Amino acid sequence: MRKDSTDKDLKPMSQTPKISIPIKWDAKACENFSEEKLLLYRSNLLGSDLRVTNYGGGNTSAKVMMKDPLTDKDVEVLWVKGSGGDIGSMKLDGFATLSMDKLIALKGLYRGLAHEDAMVDYLPHCTFNLNARAASIDTPLHAYIPHKHVDHVHPDAVIAIAASRNGEAITQKVFADELGWIPWQRPGYDLGLKIEALCKAKPHLQGIVLGGHGLFTWGATAVECYENTIKTIQKAQNYIDSKDQGLCFGGPRLAPLDEARRKEFASRFMPPLRGILSKQNEKIGHFNDSEDVLAFVCSQQARKLAALGTSCPDHFLRTKIAPLFVDFDPAKDSVESVLASLDDALERYRKSYEAYYNRCKHPDSPAMRDPYPVIILVSGVGLFSYASDKATARIAGEFYVNAINVMRGAAALDEYVALPEQEAFDIEYWALEEAKLRRRQA
Ligand SMILES: [Zn+2]
Repeated sequence: MRKDSTDKDLKPMSQTPKISIPIKWDAKACENFSEEKLLLYRSNLLGSDLRVTNYGGGNTSAKVMMKDPLTDKDVEVLWVKGSGGDIGSMKLDGFATLSMDKLIALKGLYRGLAHEDAMVDYLPHCTFNLNARAASIDTPLHAYIPHKHVDHVHPDAVIAIAASRNGEAITQKVFADELGWIPWQRPGYDLGLKIEALCKAKPHLQGIVLGGHGLFTWGATAVECYENTIKTIQKAQNYIDSKDQGLCFGGPRLAPLDEARRKEFASRFMPPLRGILSKQNEKIGHFNDSEDVLAFVCSQQARKLAALGTSCPDHFLRTKIAPLFVDFDPAKDSVESVLASLDDALERYRKSYEAYYNRCKHPDSPAMRDPYPVIILVSGVGLFSYASDKATARIAGEFYVNAINVMRGAAALDEYVALPEQEAFDIEYWALEEAKLRRRQA
């Protein structure tokens, strides 16, 4: 037996540092900023920390009084992150601007859940000042919250609660009457109306947890909104830390290879893997063997949790619902043995993805995506992610690290639950449609 797999090395990962999310607001840096510049400043700060929101995930808004260019009258304008982009790196031109009076008038056109998607087509008619940035599907969620400044983010700590079997009860326990709860529902017009109704029924709320999804928070000013968001996430994190016994994912099942041998494994594993994964579309790989990843892939529950799939809807398009899990035991197996079984493993994955597509597709669903996995987890070694370019591959890996953090938090609190398969499919393939639209607009 090799040194790196002896039982004495199987230490529980108990020394998880307590996570602290700093408040970075610097009043001096944003002195004399206009409301829209303050919104941008707040957005960039929030997006600078992946624990606050994943890359490209979440959106921010402010309702700002502006002069209508035709009438010269003061009107209320919703500035909200538009379709595409990332709040961490966006610029002012990343915001869509819409007239609030028109958004409110839209309510008269809504005919119910079956006609949700038609509402998206009305959004361009609400545009203020000929802004070319397309409004996103999340726009009604921001518009109808009766507060000036609104943040929607996907923080690992809050999604851990939102993806727990008893998420509503845990939200109540941690936040009492500060936060409301809305069970999972695909983002869209109807969810916007539900959020508004809850805000009006409980005007004391400081935010809302969306089951299986993320967080809405707000404030009367940009800085109040920002601080509310960060403090809410920190409170969720503190609660998870207080419950985390250190035995993450049921404790270790095997010890990882040492670093040099992980790198050697990756250098021999990745070229043939890339060859098979590129059968339909050419791919580039990225390797991540950070401590968090290793704690997960080497754990007792990794295979079971990985098969359940991720929970935050943003993840589906980037990572697919579930990764391929490759069982590698450094004590018994070699790179050669893993490579010998790789063809079969990928073929099984391809078939199961095809079966999932056929089970869940609607008559008007887009064609099946490339059926090969995006994320490949190898126990003892780490996480491999593949996409059409290096940056996308790296970002897909980062998304899965977010998913690992969520699963870890949820497992410490309660029991992790993934979204139902059909919901996940609808998001994955609807998001695909939206991505296509976005490209057309670009
Ligand atoms: Zn979201």
